[in-house]
Amino acid sequence: MTPIAFDNSYAKLSDRFYSPLSPAQVPAPAWIACNTELAKDVGIDPQWLASDAGLAMAAGNQLPAGAEPIATVYAGHQFGSYNPQLGDGRAVLLGEVIRPDGQRVDVQLKGAGRTPYSRGGDGKSPLGPVLREYLLSEAMYALGVPTTRALAAVSTGEPVYREQALPGAILTRVAKSHLRIGTFQFFAARQDHEALSQLVDYTINRHYPAATQAAIPALALFESVVAAQAELIAQWQSLGFIHGVMNTDNMLLSGETIDYGPCAFMEAYHPGKVFSSIDSHGRYAFGNQPAIGQWNLAQLAQALLPLLDEDPNMAVEMAQQALNEYPDKFFAAYHQRMAAKLGISQWQAGDEQLYQDFLDLLAEHQCDFTLAFRRLFQLAHPEYEAPLSDLFAFPEAFTPWLSRWQGRRDGQPDTDESVRRAMLQANPLFIPRNHRVEQAIHAATWENNLAPFQQLLAVVTQPFDARTEWLAYAAPASPDEAVQRTFCGT
Ligand code: AMP
Ligand code: MG
Repeated sequence: MTPIAFDNSYAKLSDRFYSPLSPAQVPAPAWIACNTELAKDVGIDPQWLASDAGLAMAAGNQLPAGAEPIATVYAGHQFGSYNPQLGDGRAVLLGEVIRPDGQRVDVQLKGAGRTPYSRGGDGKSPLGPVLREYLLSEAMYALGVPTTRALAAVSTGEPVYREQALPGAILTRVAKSHLRIGTFQFFAARQDHEALSQLVDYTINRHYPAATQAAIPALALFESVVAAQAELIAQWQSLGFIHGVMNTDNMLLSGETIDYGPCAFMEAYHPGKVFSSIDSHGRYAFGNQPAIGQWNLAQLAQALLPLLDEDPNMAVEMAQQALNEYPDKFFAAYHQRMAAKLGISQWQAGDEQLYQDFLDLLAEHQCDFTLAFRRLFQLAHPEYEAPLSDLFAFPEAFTPWLSRWQGRRDGQPDTDESVRRAMLQANPLFIPRNHRVEQAIHAATWENNLAPFQQLLAVVTQPFDARTEWLAYAAPASPDEAVQRTFCGT
């Protein structure tokens, strides 16, 4: 059996889409983490991955047969301003593999050295951002959110220079694809309609094959992406996840979460919460994420216009209509998640107010978003009572709201197993809290100690499992532990 059977399709497109190149050689690769479970899922031999040959691939030092390393080109709106030339500046796509279930996935190295798109950057990654992405993406997966995954992390044995010298590392990322809104913008801005049309066909084939049957495939593609993004962002909102850099180059057509740079899970609830150190205007604040999702989709629509209709006015009309579906799709997905969080089997008209009043109380009393909802789960299911009551209690001011909520739940079949399970799965106990992530990064970077990373990874990949010995990981940061800003992973 071939240990990793590459079956590359993007590298078969014309070279307008990428630049072939080899990853940089690194002096002393060593394992940080090797995700053998994921290897199995995607059809890579886990023993091979954990071997020296797997390490050599994850370090970029020696690629197995079949790899065709490329850096892909894209553009994108960064904080609202269009940048016509971005691209994989520190990432190399090794190729694609076909999962046993038939799904094609990309295998990419992040932090593998300079590419033609590196601009002023060194193409490398410090250890910290690699650990952050590993923890956050695997936690998101465990929480049931569509996301890119972490297959491996290795240290390179060479320093990376930022404000100070830091240990270098490389992440091996697995994704349904790396087709970004910015990839479409790149070709649209150059009026390269031939490439644009190839890209649309490629994306439809890979992600939304039903669109080939539609009267206007590019429109059907756009509608599918609108639905996928609405669903994705509804999931973020239901978990208090702040992406931090929702630039159009960080939005995937597949609907997976990508680019765990300055992201974080919110602790005390506030819709205006921002984490990114470079987001001084709060463009990507928690409460703005759904609207930014629509703004990003409008940029995709703009890029697709030439393929919708020869008549520009008609094309705009079609795109606008499809885009107008976004709020309904978002709220449908969001209400479904909210109903699950509240232990309600069917969302009704008045529930919007019930939910909003809860959020307002959380904001007013600076309650931890995750623990407050988990506490609701425990109140509804007292057999889960014991551990969390030490960590979190609703302030007095919640009493009237709690009675309203109980009233709303009364009359529902409380024994309904599906409502209970949905409520559990919607209200995690363990999220990758930012101070814990920072502690893990600090220990790995400055003390060469991976134990906190490994322990945190174990906890956040079992987010619903109320293990008493892990309870400290459920606790919010104390005031002196709180991390106010998260820096970009560059
Ligand atoms: P991001 O903010 O991570 O989405 O990155 C934005 C752009 O900057 C992308 O084109 C990246 O490839 C590029 N980039 C980020 N960090 C580096 C780096 N260290 N070296 C080269 N390019 C980088
Ligand atoms: Mg990016």
